Amino acid sequence: MSPQKLERFIEKVGEEAYFDVLIIGGGITGSALAYEVASRGLSVCLVEKEDFGGATSSATGKLIHGGLRYLKRFDLSLVREALKERRILSNIAPNLVYPYPMILPNPGLLERIGLFVYDLLSFDRNWTWDKSKRIPAHKNLSKKEVQSRGLSGMDSAIYFYDCIMPSPERLTLAFLKSAVQEGASISNYTKAEELIFEGNRVIGALVKDTIHNKNVKLKASVTVNASGPWSQDFLNGTKKIKVPVPKTRSEGIYLITKKYFDTMVLHVGKKGHFSFAPWRGKNMIGPTEKAYYGPVEDWKLSQESILEFLEYINSSGLLSEKLELKDVEFAYGGLRPLAETGAEDKGTYSASRKSELQDHSKEGIEGLISAGGGKYTTSRHFAEKIFKLIHKKFSRNIGPSVSKKKFLKGCEISDIRSYLENAKTSYPNISENTIEYLVRHHGTEYVSILELANTSTQLSEVLDEDGELAAQVLYAIRFEMATNLQDIFLRRTGLGTVGLPSDEILSKVAEIAGKEWNWSVERKSEEIQKLKRKLLV
Ligand SMILES: Cc1cc2nc3c(=O)[nH]c(=O)nc-3n(C[C@H](O)[C@H](O)[C@H](O)COP(=O)(O)OP(=O)(O)OC[C@H]3O[C@@H](n4cnc5c(N)ncnc54)[C@H](O)[C@@H]3O)c2cc1C
Repeated sequence: MSPQKLERFIEKVGEEAYFDVLIIGGGITGSALAYEVASRGLSVCLVEKEDFGGATSSATGKLIHGGLRYLKRFDLSLVREALKERRILSNIAPNLVYPYPMILPNPGLLERIGLFVYDLLSFDRNWTWDKSKRIPAHKNLSKKEVQSRGLSGMDSAIYFYDCIMPSPERLTLAFLKSAVQEGASISNYTKAEELIFEGNRVIGALVKDTIHNKNVKLKASVTVNASGPWSQDFLNGTKKIKVPVPKTRSEGIYLITKKYFDTMVLHVGKKGHFSFAPWRGKNMIGPTEKAYYGPVEDWKLSQESILEFLEYINSSGLLSEKLELKDVEFAYGGLRPLAETGAEDKGTYSASRKSELQDHSKEGIEGLISAGGGKYTTSRHFAEKIFKLIHKKFSRNIGPSVSKKKFLKGCEISDIRSYLENAKTSYPNISENTIEYLVRHHGTEYVSILELANTSTQLSEVLDEDGELAAQVLYAIRFEMATNLQDIFLRRTGLGTVGLPSDEILSKVAEIAGKEWNWSVERKSEEIQKLKRKLLV
């Protein structure tokens, strides 16, 4: 089976092109929607101003979860929706989403009731296609049991499961690949500059291919603004729409450090919750919840936020040693596209994570929908809801949604455990580490990557402790629309997501990329420097 090739459609169209639906924004909201629309038979294009899934959708805690803490707000419908989607995502993307244990230390009565309700709300958690995806009910751990797990400072704990997606970036990409398989046209580094109006109807957007500096008029019957935290700024950039801009945004960051805990441990403190989560041999600590008042475009991960968080972590008493800046191997974060902002003085911790759907025809603007907020976990279902609104604008007969019934592209694996075992026996010369990583992150496409690796010594080289191969770099360029080193290091592979790789690895990857993209020696070193600036804490 030859691999599917993602191509930037914007390079193939002339000055103008027409689609039934235009989606602005290639985060998980836009990507899941592109799949929903294409699989229902409408023509659709998606434009993303940077790289797919590179903004909020990669700033997550990598959890596919019900959101235990939303029970405190009695957000039962959101928790139920998310728990159902947790099961659906682990069905349709079995390699990318799987059960993940967690520990809640020293639970009070409220937490114990909360976990009981959480189990009730996930009554269908074991109706999974693959039995390895079944999730047991929570259990209480006594002091003795807690200590036997090497956890200090706890008198008791609750042990329960949610799910993890080790690579939100690749899950977003899997939705996009599924969309393309169904006929969608997608393009990264393509910015929607402004909406095109005909009277009070939006008939598309003027977009710019920022790689080739080319302007294209993309016309569509329905335009969906799925631009995440940029949503209000984008709308206000048009002369005909004015929406209120949230005064406060919620910044969330994560720190990657060496591993302190083998199981995810939650901490609920005065300034909100955070957790130590094991991931790729490290701990991922976060999230924070800090008010941000500036323009979205200006947001950057600041050292001040990292230092503030280190202070909070150190005050939690969870670690016996003091965490310092030098212990932080990598850090990332983003702004939550909240549906509602918390009151300024209360901060943003209490704000809802419900997604928000707005049909602008209510304000007299036809042909435009805005879709934002929510959680990564509920994006597939959110796409179904957005589609209901889109559908109303077409008189055609359209079939039911299939997105919860079919594997995503590259995820066609009915039994992940035996698939992994088969892969290991089929490639006895490849390390188990590499097979595990490739199957988990690339699913069925791992075979094509190994075929590429087999073509040269350079491509078969292992580049990190997870066993990632140089062939993944070439695969990302040839088949996955990677256009620069950041796409490769941060979103197609995991080479840059646990800290700055060595100079040797950086130049090996730049060598492969440079050859494919005809880079000069100067260009190669410029690209490496740019990446270094991005990855340095
Ligand atoms: C710190 C943090 C932790 C989180 N953890 C979790 C978690 O563990 N689990 C969970 O379920 N959810 C989590 N979330 C929530 C989740 O990440 C978001 O709900 C989700 O990613 C929102 O996706 P989106 O596509 O709406 O936004 P985004 O991912 O921000 O996508 C919007 C896209 O639009 C693009 N864009 C903007 N303007 C334009 C334009 N003019 N033209 C073209 N493109 C444009 C942007 O570049 C961006 O890529 C977390 C969020 C944060 C911030």
